[in-house]
Amino acid sequence: MKMESEVLRHPGHINSDVARWREDFPVLRETIRGKPLVYLDNAATTHKPVSVIEAEAAFYRHTNSNVHRGVHTLSQRATDEYEAAREKVRRFINAASTREIVFVRGTTEAINLVAQSYARPRLTAEDNIIVSAMEHHSNIVPWQMVCGQTGAELRVVPVNEAGELDVEMLGHLIGPGTKLVAITHLSNALGTITPVKRIIEMAHAHEVPVLLDGAQAIAHLGVDVRELDCDFYAFSGHKIFAPTGIGALYGKETLLDAMPPYQGGGDMISSVSFGETLYNELPYKFEAGTPNIAGAIGLGHALDYVSSVGIAAIAAHEHALLEYATELASGIKGLKIIGTAQQKASILSFTLEGVHPHDIGTILDHDGVAIRAGHHCAMPIMQRFGIGGTARASFSLYNTHAEVDALIAGIRKVQEMFQR
Ligand code: PMP
Repeated sequence: MKMESEVLRHPGHINSDVARWREDFPVLRETIRGKPLVYLDNAATTHKPVSVIEAEAAFYRHTNSNVHRGVHTLSQRATDEYEAAREKVRRFINAASTREIVFVRGTTEAINLVAQSYARPRLTAEDNIIVSAMEHHSNIVPWQMVCGQTGAELRVVPVNEAGELDVEMLGHLIGPGTKLVAITHLSNALGTITPVKRIIEMAHAHEVPVLLDGAQAIAHLGVDVRELDCDFYAFSGHKIFAPTGIGALYGKETLLDAMPPYQGGGDMISSVSFGETLYNELPYKFEAGTPNIAGAIGLGHALDYVSSVGIAAIAAHEHALLEYATELASGIKGLKIIGTAQQKASILSFTLEGVHPHDIGTILDHDGVAIRAGHHCAMPIMQRFGIGGTARASFSLYNTHAEVDALIAGIRKVQEMFQR
């Protein structure tokens, strides 16, 4: 095995596309205690390319104005750029109309919106919502809250030892009282890609709509909401090279149209009097208050960036990294990979016998290797595997095979320290 310093000094080891992509991300030039940053925490958040950083700065430098309200030039410019970003989101996920794209803070807000605006008015004590055992807390707690408010039941589809969803069990759980199935498209804790097409077909056979948590999938799998025929799709910009505090909820127009507003305030109305308030049309009905205008514009540029590289090229590169990392990690005695599904993307979650995941993370950080350690906001799936947490390396387009070598060298170092 090559030593970390050796491989990182050999840029020839990096394929030329990746070398070019790395140039687009200034933060990758940072050093941590004199060592090159090896950023393997992309499932938590991704870094931003220059085009996104500059688009956000350019908005504040040249445009900064509120949207939808002003007659002056800057406000019109801000509105045009904000709405152009909505069109970019629509195109990226192939929604039928921009009326189906609601800007939100991120996946969490999108799911809370659907829980409170779609599910709450429809749920009774006889009804249920179905999630899986490997959901992020963002796709559990909003449903627990709405079940608490209505007396409905939260049903959980189990996963097998490999971390794959038990689709047959889902078939048994869906019943006449099921009002929604809410499932992750790609698990942040295990890396499992869920069979969403099949899940959607099964749910639709019972006329049950499906929400997909696309927080992870958006940056790694091509998402076509019309091809999937999902009813809601939630994602966060910051997981796909855009700023934090911006994301999108896709919802089929017929569903969104029938839903009451989630929050009240400016911009979501067409007229207000103390006698009666009329709500604005889609999607503005769901965008109360001044939105994250610069963030939305940044998101548009991030999606442009991904489209220019090509999601297929990204996925192929990440898959190669995951296979390489899995192979090397499998050779480490005492290392157990948590999440060994047939269909996986970009995430290597593992435990190391006798070592707390936080210790792995801390020791790796000393050598500039950034990974995640803990329950990854998915405590129920950790409980399923009988563990408190894992160490997680998650890959993006700018990661290299040499960085995987650095990770593996770091893990071996951790082991040596704990064996002493
Ligand atoms: N779902 C999944 C699968 C995630 O990975 C995350 C973020 N870790 C979320 C939901 C929540 O995303 P956000 O914090 O951006 O709202």
